Amino acid sequence: MAYILSVFAVRNLLVLSLALNVSLILRVLLLHDSQDGSFNGFFFAEQKEEALATKITRLSSSVLPSSSSLTMAQGDEDRVINLDHGDPTMYESYWQKKGDETTVVIPGWQFMSYFSDATRLCWFLEPEFAEQIVRLHNVVGNAVTENRHIVVGTGSTQLFQAALYALSPCAEAEPISVVSAAPYYSSYPLITDCLKSRLYKWAGDARSFSKNGPYIELVTSPNNPDGFARRSVVNGSEGILIHDLAYYWPQYTPISSPANYDLMLFTVSKSTGHAGMRIGWALVKDEDVARKMTKYIEINTIGVSKDSQVRAAKVLKVISDNSEGPNEGDSFFEFSYRVMAKRWKQLREAVQQSGLFSVSDFPPQLCMFLNRVFEPQPAFAWIKCEGDIDNCESFLRGKKILTRGGKHFGVSPKYVRISMLDRDKNYETFVRRLSTIRS
Ligand code: PMP
Repeated sequence: MAYILSVFAVRNLLVLSLALNVSLILRVLLLHDSQDGSFNGFFFAEQKEEALATKITRLSSSVLPSSSSLTMAQGDEDRVINLDHGDPTMYESYWQKKGDETTVVIPGWQFMSYFSDATRLCWFLEPEFAEQIVRLHNVVGNAVTENRHIVVGTGSTQLFQAALYALSPCAEAEPISVVSAAPYYSSYPLITDCLKSRLYKWAGDARSFSKNGPYIELVTSPNNPDGFARRSVVNGSEGILIHDLAYYWPQYTPISSPANYDLMLFTVSKSTGHAGMRIGWALVKDEDVARKMTKYIEINTIGVSKDSQVRAAKVLKVISDNSEGPNEGDSFFEFSYRVMAKRWKQLREAVQQSGLFSVSDFPPQLCMFLNRVFEPQPAFAWIKCEGDIDNCESFLRGKKILTRGGKHFGVSPKYVRISMLDRDKNYETFVRRLSTIRS
């Protein structure tokens, strides 16, 4: 009896082990199939489909709890896109590709002094940076540098304040009026009135300004927010002009001739995309004005970071070298021109598909630098909500697109400003979403 029992048990064990081995072989085959998709036998394909379906059902009921989170996980259609600020992150990919060409190493003992060149009018301006500014303007042909003083600033934001300080008459009983044609750059009124100065005061839209006496007019060309080329609009005889040329570069607008004004402001933020360096420069004709601007920066920040100036010099040098050298096709302005052209094409298509918005057309012009005719492709899109949408900013906020509304720029809330300079991924999501908005 014991013998029969033991034989039965051995037989059972053999059958069991056979079954286990067969199932193991099947699993290995299935696993192999699902990994590289190379096994196409009908039976196993069916089994695979079944197994996959079971897996997905199990996953969707335990890991993915609701349909809304499923949408988020699938794409970024539901994500908030912030295009309120003009943060120039789209340029990162170009500079990343350039690798170490613009890397700067600064030993701990270098640039410790406050002074850069005590013999210069602007004593905190790094000579190498001054040299590269002049060279780049000559290469691009967008500004006259002869007989100009260069004043460096912590961004052109500081230079704007230095210019207000330098240009305001100090003997006047009343603060001088500061105006700019609407839509104007939204920071102008905020900066001008921030300290409630007795020297100068924001007086709004230049087109409706009719006060007698001296005034300061800010001319932004191409303009932020609407991208149009501009000239001064006030018809007074005592006007003092500040030309803010942050966007007078060939990726945004055709360079028709070198700008030749008394006081011109430039910045690396929008030319090379290095907003984080906080570097700008002013080209100033009048020596006294340049001296007073320098004084303001001395009182305000005792100069401008040398580390940043040295880094900016390197970036400008690489741009000039590449614009003139044998690899012209790979130049910074070719790259940025192409990206802007593509983005504007996508934007116009999206606006057309949606039918709810409108955007201006710009007359094409010959660019002397790129040697081609093209329409301006501004750093911001100035979009109007058509029909009965009165507040375009809040309408788009409802679609999870953050913009800056017209009232910040002194005009109707039917308009919004949208940054065109964000990273590819954000921009692509934005145009895709815009094209599907109906009402
Ligand atoms: N002027 C204009 C017209 C601008 O659009 C900007 C940046 N948004 C600035 C000045 C300020 O530039 P920065 O970063 O050099 O202070």
